[in-house]
Amino acid sequence: MAPAPPETTRFAPSPSGRLHLGHALAAATARRLARAGGGRFLLRIEDIDAARCRPEFDAGILEDLAWLGLSWDGPVLRQSTRLDAYRAALAELGARGLGYPCFCTRAEIVAELAAMSAAPQGPEGPVYPGSCRALSPAERERRIAAGEPHAWRLDVAACVAALGGHPLGFEETGRGPAGETGQQEVLPLLSGDVVLGRKDLGVSYHLALVMDDHLQGVTLVTRGEDLFAATHIQRLLQAVLGLGVPRYHHHRLVRDANGRRLAKRDRDREIAALRAAGLAPGDVLALAGAGGLAAVDS
Ligand code: GLU
Repeated sequence: MAPAPPETTRFAPSPSGRLHLGHALAAATARRLARAGGGRFLLRIEDIDAARCRPEFDAGILEDLAWLGLSWDGPVLRQSTRLDAYRAALAELGARGLGYPCFCTRAEIVAELAAMSAAPQGPEGPVYPGSCRALSPAERERRIAAGEPHAWRLDVAACVAALGGHPLGFEETGRGPAGETGQQEVLPLLSGDVVLGRKDLGVSYHLALVMDDHLQGVTLVTRGEDLFAATHIQRLLQAVLGLGVPRYHHHRLVRDANGRRLAKRDRDREIAALRAAGLAPGDVLALAGAGGLAAVDS
């Protein structure tokens, strides 16, 4: 077999809780794929949501990874240090006509979708019906000047037009939830006009993530298969922002005995709880299904 190319991978948790077995699998997978070819495994803390993120969870991430033996390369990047860069990119998209302010409340969106005979469906339910896309520039300015709370949305159709309608793709080296693997066609409209600047934060997960994967020189994005669908919109964002295009490796999720994916509420599946119960790092990685992964070492 040809040797694996040196990849730059990353583990990008949010410090809104302690790490659980699913995180252990994600980190071990990213680290193995980097180290197998002599590449780099980076750590990024996705802490844009100050209301949900806490310093003790940030410290817990570093502690749990160190205890598991999953050391990372170089400095840790914290998204909270990059808010100005995200806001500048958002402003640029707006100026290019690729984003628009959205004044809708959640209740208004729900009511509008209920009134539609066939609400457009995305991977996570109905997608935004596009109500604020049609507002005139004058109306937008007036409402912003009046201090009306608003989010910013990506105008997906305008992005597709700006790219001249050229189809986009991405390479999947793992598997999506429906077994997707190999070259994938991007479906830009899949999730509709997603939020790029949250009403409460001014920024969002999708925008911050593609900008940071670019900044950190990530060549292979590894993460759970629940984020496979997000790749479509993230790939579109990379194209309109002129960012580097990584390959993708989605992996299966760690599930509980009932087949449910682990969540923050599963406190007994937290690394710290398993450690306190007397398990060794190797036992925890084996429980996560990452037993062989950590073996590719240093
Ligand atoms: N912060 C994201 C999460 O914890 C990671 C996103 C990604 O790896 O692409 O779900």
